[in-house]
Amino acid sequence: MALTRETPLTDLPGVGPQRGGKLEKLGLRTLGDVLNHLPQRYEDRRERCSLQEAPADRPCCVSAMVAESPRISYVRRGLSLVKVKAVDGAGTVYITFFNQDYIREVLRPGEEYVFYGTVERQGNLFSMTNPVFEREGSGRTTGLIMPVYPLTAGISNNLLAGLTRRAVEECLDGLPEVLPGTVRREHRLCQTQYARRNIHYPASFEELAIARRRLVFEELFVLTCGLAQLKERRCRGEGRRLAGDPEEFAALLPFAPTNAQRRAMEDISADLRSGRAMNRLVQGDVGSGKTAVAAFGAWTAAQNGVQCALMAPTELLAEQHARTMDALLAPAGVRVALLTAAVKGREKKALLAALAAGEIDLLVGTHALFSQGVEYHDLGLVIADEQHRFGVAQRAALAEKGGAGSPPPAGRREGGGDLLPAAGNPSPPHILVMSATPIPRTLALIIYGDLDVSVIDELPPGRTPVDTFLVGEDKRRRMYGFIRKQAAEGRQIYIVCPSVEENGGGDWAEAPGMDLKAVTAYARQLRETVFPDLRVGLVHGKLKPKDKEAVMAAFTGGELDVLVSTTVVEVGVDVPNASLMVIENAERFGLSQLHQLRGRVGRGRHKSYCVLVTASRSETARERLKALCATNDGFQIAEEDLRLRGPGDFFGKRQHGLPQLRVADFAADMELLKEARAAAEELVARDPELKKPAHRLLKRQVRKLFEENAELFN
Ligand code: ADP
Ligand code: MG
Repeated sequence: MALTRETPLTDLPGVGPQRGGKLEKLGLRTLGDVLNHLPQRYEDRRERCSLQEAPADRPCCVSAMVAESPRISYVRRGLSLVKVKAVDGAGTVYITFFNQDYIREVLRPGEEYVFYGTVERQGNLFSMTNPVFEREGSGRTTGLIMPVYPLTAGISNNLLAGLTRRAVEECLDGLPEVLPGTVRREHRLCQTQYARRNIHYPASFEELAIARRRLVFEELFVLTCGLAQLKERRCRGEGRRLAGDPEEFAALLPFAPTNAQRRAMEDISADLRSGRAMNRLVQGDVGSGKTAVAAFGAWTAAQNGVQCALMAPTELLAEQHARTMDALLAPAGVRVALLTAAVKGREKKALLAALAAGEIDLLVGTHALFSQGVEYHDLGLVIADEQHRFGVAQRAALAEKGGAGSPPPAGRREGGGDLLPAAGNPSPPHILVMSATPIPRTLALIIYGDLDVSVIDELPPGRTPVDTFLVGEDKRRRMYGFIRKQAAEGRQIYIVCPSVEENGGGDWAEAPGMDLKAVTAYARQLRETVFPDLRVGLVHGKLKPKDKEAVMAAFTGGELDVLVSTTVVEVGVDVPNASLMVIENAERFGLSQLHQLRGRVGRGRHKSYCVLVTASRSETARERLKALCATNDGFQIAEEDLRLRGPGDFFGKRQHGLPQLRVADFAADMELLKEARAAAEELVARDPELKKPAHRLLKRQVRKLFEENAELFN
């Protein structure tokens, strides 16, 4: 039978309907699928030894002849042993197999086999337990670098390895080459056939590295081509020309902007006056002063008579932004309004009417800003704070929905609702996103691959780094003493408890913690027993917006000494008088999240502290937390976080809107990512729509990879 990549696995001997079903669970239906099912690791089974020379500390291959019929014994119910005696030139080995009765029929006296396993030795007696074996001369599972595949119940590695071997031996001819020859040669990448063969059955680890490098490059190249296309299309998009002078704006600020803030404002100013649609990310560590930069954008929009929408991830933050923006911009005549779920009824109606009439210049809110019924008079700029909650897909949808006045087909609408431009609005709004989460550069290149980036790499003057301590339960009383001392000096204190209930909101999906009852009880205990003399408030995500606002206002206004909260204070909250951040169950948070929380203090002139409380005995958990004590550099922490938890967990369970990668490793393949990205941008610059015949296949791959976001690539 001639095998092709389309051959169903169930056509192969040894794969019946039952195994076929299990293989499908792994996403494997055809031999072509099997080619793409990559090993997760390899076992070096190349070393051959005689029994006498066999190392004691690692497995090796031993060639020996079975010298007696295998014998089976039943030790007890559920435990049987097959024992075999085998000999090589100079020694005798006794081999035991547990619960593998069939081996009695397989191993035949007088025949030579290769056994792969660790040889144990007692004097002149050799033994092996459960070795891998095959007939001498067969070379399928011994004497080679053995691929080890991701498996599922009922599918053995040997079965899969057998299938990939068939696929590699018979289906590589005519395998289409995705990478254009020029790219392949310029970046010294092997051909696709060679890569596929050697990723499954490498002749050496060197060849494996060559194969892997190509496959990683290919994957990243396809992805970055897609991103480059996105960017390229946006750049061609027309944008309203908006003129605004950063120097003139700076006069409105109560402080002199840092050089980094100035640069970011210059970048934005240049984008806005370019005539093209802006798609810019402003990235800066917590406290670096991104709000002022956002305000510059809003101010510029107002100067030019167009509206600005500022979107925050939580209501709390939206409320705070509205206050800050109003204080800053109202004196310059900018009309600021706040739209959250708390705005209802007549009040909301009036607000929406004012918005549609163009009587509001800056509307601050949550994603409610783009819900049904919210109509702008003339929306020119959208600013999103905390970018990682605002992925590529949403940005693309926003730009599209804002564009050209024709509503998108129903099938393409997403959860967030529509952003319908006023009739006749000729251009999509400019987009500015602000990220307080320092993203490792690798991830930044992927996630922001379609954006221009300004980095604020400088903190406002006069900040002293926050001292961070890790304490166990045994230090709780001392910690309470420290809280009291800070309060006595007039400072304010945050105590953050991870809460399970708020997982639904997705902010901290991977950080389970106390239930709300426990948090409430803890707050009561602090108020009544531990700090009866202090003013203790509690805020959590399940509070009514009005109540939440009241507690936050009390804390901001200095009417509370201690604020117990679930993670709703995570981002953005700005109380310069707060000098101590206590985080309970700290081990439940990611490092970047902890760093964010820590950024809530150290914002004023007071020496500030962060105390991480953990009862965890786990050495790795403590190592992680110590990394946070050791540095205040958000980027370094982010890199460490990525290394420890992998990109999947980096942002929590929430999707960042980009495809899953199969071969590439964000932490390890950074250099290659840069190379692939440069190559992709060059190629897309020459052939933006990938129309050339040499790019036909690449175009298909790009589409396939972005299948979940297929609407991005029409
Ligand atoms: P983030 O980047 O985390 O959003 P903010 O914009 O909230 O930071 O700024 C943090 C604090 O620093 C605020 O109190 C803000 O008023 C202050 N700030 C921002 N820029 C400057 C500056 N150039 N000089 C002094 N203080 C500044
Ligand atoms: Mg901020």
